[in-house]
Amino acid sequence: MTIRQQNNELKVENWNLKHPVGSKVIVTKDGGEVVESTTTSPAEMLGGHTPVIWLEGFSGAYLLDRVAIAPNKAQFPANVTVHWPSGPVHACDEHARQLKSLGGFLGGHVACTVAPAGSECANCVNEAKSATSNQERKGHR
Ligand SMILES: [Zn+2]
Repeated sequence: MTIRQQNNELKVENWNLKHPVGSKVIVTKDGGEVVESTTTSPAEMLGGHTPVIWLEGFSGAYLLDRVAIAPNKAQFPANVTVHWPSGPVHACDEHARQLKSLGGFLGGHVACTVAPAGSECANCVNEAKSATSNQERKGHR
């Protein structure tokens, strides 16, 4: 295996570790035009030598080199803002449901509104962070 092939395989591996299917990305097209898209597959090595990925709105695989994670995009988008007595919490549907049932359990009424665009689910972010630090701890053993 050549160095270049090894680098490409690392690129694919790193991408898949960091960016799950469904990640928002920006894609540089052949003409230099930049468009937004969403990944619909993990990255993989096409023919064993070229890192590619499948994207929404594109037919066939696209060169991974032309694809980058969209900047300033929430990785865990919040759909709902749950209004706790202590302040608003942005949450995905699943965490909003948990927060609401917790609020009901505590005897309070918890109001929900639509989350502002670009907001992240704080609980998902925390879970992702603790998952990452667990991985790092294992790696340093
Ligand atoms: Zn969440």
